[in-house]
Amino acid sequence: MTCAALIVAAGSGTRAGGALPKQWQSLLGRRVIDWTLDAFLAVPEITAITVVVHPDAVARIAPHPRIRVVPGGATRAASVRAGLDAMAADPPDHVLIHDAARCCTQPAYIAYILNALQTGETMAVAPALPVTDALWTAEAGRVTGTRDRAGLYRAQTPQAFDFRAILDAHRAQDSDAADDVAVAITAGIDVAIADGDEDNLKITHAADFARATRILENQMDIRVGTGFDVHRFGPGTQCMLCGVAVPHDRGLDGHSDADVGMHAATDAIYGALAEGDIGRHFPPSDPQWKGAASHVFLRHAVEMANAKGFTINNMDITLVCERPKIGPHAEAMQHALSQITGIETGRISVKATTSERLGFTGREEGIAAQAAVTLVKRCA
Ligand code: MG
Repeated sequence: MTCAALIVAAGSGTRAGGALPKQWQSLLGRRVIDWTLDAFLAVPEITAITVVVHPDAVARIAPHPRIRVVPGGATRAASVRAGLDAMAADPPDHVLIHDAARCCTQPAYIAYILNALQTGETMAVAPALPVTDALWTAEAGRVTGTRDRAGLYRAQTPQAFDFRAILDAHRAQDSDAADDVAVAITAGIDVAIADGDEDNLKITHAADFARATRILENQMDIRVGTGFDVHRFGPGTQCMLCGVAVPHDRGLDGHSDADVGMHAATDAIYGALAEGDIGRHFPPSDPQWKGAASHVFLRHAVEMANAKGFTINNMDITLVCERPKIGPHAEAMQHALSQITGIETGRISVKATTSERLGFTGREEGIAAQAAVTLVKRCA
């Protein structure tokens, strides 16, 4: 069974306020739509994602091997139809249709809806929550009556369909339907209701941004890692420190290039991942790592973090030595580490301290380094 997703992001979303439609506004430092896309990208069963955007906004989605961008139409139904038509050239068995403004939807929830379709007996499954509040009718701020809430549901997305069935239903109707379940039932398709989720919030009003922020923050897996390393001085004319060759009247001894700062940073990342240390991944007993450039280690740790779904939020390195002076090279070190890790320089700190001439660093027998990193990922 193949499954694809269709993300609807063509609306103008003016009720949420702000200069941009809500799906392009920032939430916890990222655009609303990026949270939504990441959740779908994290579901392995979904092989392709089609995003329908306003024709002027096509360039706002960065190229991605699993994402296709399609210009939308004047109504939501027209936009969905445009997306389904684009997918029809290589049709999946199933499609999940989702509103981009529901950015708190978690990957496990998406997989739950998909599984409900694949194991159920209907050609459509959609999540909904029974209405629990009393319902009133009103006019000019005065209650005019009540309505029975029995049998009423609040619809959510993603809504999952047999692709051919929902494509045919959209092609047969020229509707202004609010969602695709409305199109499906008009076409006579049975729609099973799956359990909705109160946290599967659709950003509609300005206040929803604060609620979505709280929900997303609760979904975060935040890790802190620390690293510590020491290398002894030996003969030489420079010290390799955080990727920069710093001229000095001595060098640093070590199996690799002895970049003590980069080793501490690398161990901090391994530590946050609970993946041991450099020695475990690059054993000193293995001759192939003799004289190795330490960026090989750091890059390995970064790639391991990324493979586990983590983003490195920031990195803070302290070098402990009397000499050489680090300050004049700190900016070059930030840039070198940024090049190796892909982390922006504003999230990399390199600073230094002396140890007041105390201890081995004070006696200038070697250099010590400590590092802290934070890793962040959204829980499944
Ligand atoms: Mg070391």
